Order: sequence, then C-alpha cells, then structure tokens
Amino acid sequence: EAMITMSKIEKTYQSGDNVVHALNKIDLTIEAGAFVSIVGPSGSGKSTLMNMIGCLDKPDSGQYMLGGSHIDKLKDRELAEIRNHKIGFIFQNFNLLGKLTAAENVELPLLYRGVKTKERHARALECLSMVGLAERARHQPNQLSGGQQQRVAIARALAGEPQILLADEPTGALDSKTSEEIMNLLIKLNQNGRTIILITHDLNVARKAKRTVSIRDGKLQEGEHI
Ligand code: ADP
Ligand code: ADP
Repeated sequence: EAMITMSKIEKTYQSGDNVVHALNKIDLTIEAGAFVSIVGPSGSGKSTLMNMIGCLDKPDSGQYMLGGSHIDKLKDRELAEIRNHKIGFIFQNFNLLGKLTAAENVELPLLYRGVKTKERHARALECLSMVGLAERARHQPNQLSGGQQQRVAIARALAGEPQILLADEPTGALDSKTSEEIMNLLIKLNQNGRTIILITHDLNVARKAKRTVSIRDGKLQEGEHI
C-alpha cells in the first residue's frame, strides 16, 4: 500500500535571471512500512524535497498523495493540519526547548492537539521508553548528551503517532558511534512498522535504510549514485 505517491512534482526558484529546477519532474512512491533514505550532495534539492514531503511547501505542479489526501490541492491551513497529524519531524540539531524537561518536550505535540494532561504524561513516558530514555524524563536537554537529545527528539516525533517519521540529517551533529546508535534505533522503529524517510548527504548513513534514492540537480534515481 502506497503511503506517498508523487508524480511529476516540480519546484522552481528564480535566482536572478536564472530559473533553478530544485525539483525536476519527480516521481516517487513510498510504501507504508518503508525505510527510505534520500541522499544527495549540497544543492541537489534535498531540502526542497523534504519540505514537499513534510507538507511545509506545495509543488508548483504535479501530484502529491499522502495517506489518501491530495496534498497539492490543499489550502495552507489544511496543509498545516495534515503536517501536524501525519508527519513526525526529526532534525539535525534536535530542536528541543532548553527550559523544558525531556518529558515536557515530548508532550508538546500532544499539548497543541489538546490531549489531556494525564494522557500526555503517560504517552510521553511511553515514547521515552521506546527510545530507551524513560529514566531521563525529568532531565533538561543541557543535562543530556547529543545522542540522548536526539532520542528525546525522536520520542517527540513519535508522540503524535504520525504516519511518517521524516528525519533531516538526524546524525549530522553526532559522532560516528552515536550516529550508529541513532540509526539502529531508527531501524528498530522501522521493524516495529513505522514508515521512515531519512534525508542525508552521508552515504554511510543512507546505506542503513532498506531503500536508497539519490537526488541530483532536482532529479531522482533509484539506488546510490553519488
Ligand atoms: P539541498 O538541500 O540538497 O542542499 P536545496 O533543496 O536547498 O538543496 O536547493 C536546491 C536548489 O534550489 C539549489 O540550487 C538552491 O540554491 C536552490 N534554492 C533552494 N531554495 C531556494 C530559494 N528559496 N530561492 C532560490 N533558490 C533556492
Ligand atoms: P540544508 O542544510 O538542509 O541543505 P540549505 O542550506 O540548502 O539547507 O537551505 C537552507 C534554507 O535556505 C532552505 O529553506 C532553502 O530553501 C533556502 N535556500 C537554499 N538555497 C537558497 C538560495 N540560493 N537562495 C535562497 N534561499 C535558499
């Protein structure tokens, strides 16, 4: 069953007199339960594609279906709604709030959705357990290592039970041993049925996924082609 179907997605930017084809007629299908990495060098279109997949932006033309919704036809407000309910974001720099505890950070997406306090607490602890950090629930980000902070961010991404985990260079700020631990965690979450899309410029990270797609000059190719 397809979670994502993109066909002939185009996104161009005007740069002085030049038109940059950041996404050039992209066709991409991602099945539910997949673990796909999108790999490409700087300037290849990764951020643009990630913004498209993550419903942060709409294509100039082409079709994007996500979990049965026609994303390209939505109004901005509807797009935000889909984004908040269907996508769990994981970033290079964790994007945790420094004054909140790990548990409070994980609860944030549930707070925005109006989930009641007791259920939020329970769900946050459950998600922290999934990433092996239940005993750090009351720590603040600055009391945690980089790898632990990324685990908290992953727990936060899981909290809203999204259909897709979308990870943008999730190991970019981590040393190689910690990167491997984070990748192993993502592999485990995928084995438990979660759909994961990972965007990276690092082939060694990309290769850990079940499927690799390369992007170059806004065009996709199946496999590694860097
Ligand atoms: P990557 O994430 O792989 O580095 P991007 O998606 O950021 O690539 O960029 C793809 C291409 O589109 C690059 O040539 C970049 O300079 C250009 N681009 C991206 N965003 C903009 C923008 N807002 N305005 C103009 N050009 C842009
Ligand atoms: P990343 O590090 O994720 O590849 P980039 O550094 O490529 O991100 O881009 C960061 C932001 O800057 C993105 O939102 C992108 O759209 C924008 N951007 C990238 N290239 C350009 C450009 N040539 N002109 C204007 N904005 C750009």
